[in-house]
Amino acid sequence: MTAAVIDGKTFAASLRGRIAELAAAFEAKAGRKAGLAVVLVGEDPASQVYVRSKGKQTVEAGMASFEHKLDASTSEADLLALVDRLNNDPAVDGILVQLPMPGHIDEQKVIGAISPDKDVDGFHVVNAGRLAVGQHGFVPCTPLGCLMLLKDRLGSLSGLEAVVIGRSNIVGKPMAQLLLGESCTVTIAHSRTRDLPDVVCRADIVVAAVGRPEMVKGNWIKPGATVIDVGINRLPPAVEGGKGRLVGDVDYASAAEVAGAITPVPGGVGPMTIAVLLRNALVAAHRNAGLALDDDTI
Ligand code: NAD
Repeated sequence: MTAAVIDGKTFAASLRGRIAELAAAFEAKAGRKAGLAVVLVGEDPASQVYVRSKGKQTVEAGMASFEHKLDASTSEADLLALVDRLNNDPAVDGILVQLPMPGHIDEQKVIGAISPDKDVDGFHVVNAGRLAVGQHGFVPCTPLGCLMLLKDRLGSLSGLEAVVIGRSNIVGKPMAQLLLGESCTVTIAHSRTRDLPDVVCRADIVVAAVGRPEMVKGNWIKPGATVIDVGINRLPPAVEGGKGRLVGDVDYASAAEVAGAITPVPGGVGPMTIAVLLRNALVAAHRNAGLALDDDTI
């Protein structure tokens, strides 16, 4: 069997198209653009790339982008003061503080200072709690993007066995909550799980969010299973000064021989994250303006 490729790049482009239409309709109704503020502290190269593409895609979707680039030496108090200003700025519907932050800043304190109603990353404990009890809140972008791909591929997920590998607050835990919300039977595997291949092989859905290049092998996968690879790992360059290849947490070549469908890396989950961020910002804008968003397809 050769697995169908789940094309996240195309899915994300079409999602961004629908968001742009809804953002224009929002502007017409609200008399202002939906606004997303992104805060970057320091000069981490990967974070700079993410922040640049977030800003670019926000503007392309017809929303206002407010970028705040702060020096790595910015104090926690100054950062908290900025978050407070953004919380109170009516032009800002969503606030994202790019992680990781420099060591002298307490990330949890900063996330906890963001208004839960502007927390488009869904990292605030109030939003984690809302997800756990099934209330409307904001769900972290990467796992919500994975769920969209799964539902697009499989339709109803009810009763399916799902194994999530990884228990981070950003991906693994919210992913497991979302799958539970879809009535899957969910197992969360992690670094202390005994006999991981044996756990993975019973899954109809495997979501790998580990951060270990090509760890999940094809012979762990149940034939026909749907495999979502969240991992983004850069292998060492083959030649000095070169750029290493990007791979996921799944050994794509062997998994694609067994799975029913699989996300590639790059071009699978990756493009979904920013598209869902824009979706969350648009939802926040409607809630903040007291307007209904009558399109439940996004
Ligand atoms: P993390 O380091 O916070 O968590 C990794 C998890 O993997 C931990 O819960 C740990 O218990 C588990 N783990 C580690 N070694 C293991 C092992 N040998 N067996 C089983 N479980 C093991 O990472 P994260 O932030 O959740 O990210 C995971 C991966 O997803 C990374 O590669 C990251 O780059 C990628 N990621 C991609 C996107 C995207 O937009 N596509 C977004 C976020 C993260």
